[in-house]
Amino acid sequence: MADATAATPDRTIPIPDRDSAPYWSALAQGRLEVQQCRDCGRWSWPARPVCSKCQSENLVWREVQGSGEVYSWVVAHRPFAPRLADEVPYTIALVRLDEDEGVLIPAALLPGDGVHQGMRVRAVAHPLTDEVGELTWEPAAPDHT
Ligand SMILES: [Zn+2]
Repeated sequence: MADATAATPDRTIPIPDRDSAPYWSALAQGRLEVQQCRDCGRWSWPARPVCSKCQSENLVWREVQGSGEVYSWVVAHRPFAPRLADEVPYTIALVRLDEDEGVLIPAALLPGDGVHQGMRVRAVAHPLTDEVGELTWEPAAPDHT
């Protein structure tokens, strides 16, 4: 996963809570991490205190490959973050992670040209502070296999 540029002072910074702090912290360090249940193996996003399948509290944060495919998308004509002001209109994609078809993570897809269901994408972490980063998706390199 690639790192992007550092934050500017007027940026919109997500506010982590007890459950989501590891997610934001991992992005600040250039990684995408998702919770996984140690009892049943289910991956979960967004952060939660118990497993969505078996209700176990035995959850751990694990780095994922950061790859997946577009499940759905919308085109935003107004930026939800100052960083994206120059990108309007841009695409917000709901991406199904390769690790678990039940994990769908929304984020801006940059660039969003040619977006379609099943489009392969990869995660890009954007550090905002030492403790918080944000996620965007970018088109994955074409598969030549
Ligand atoms: Zn579980």
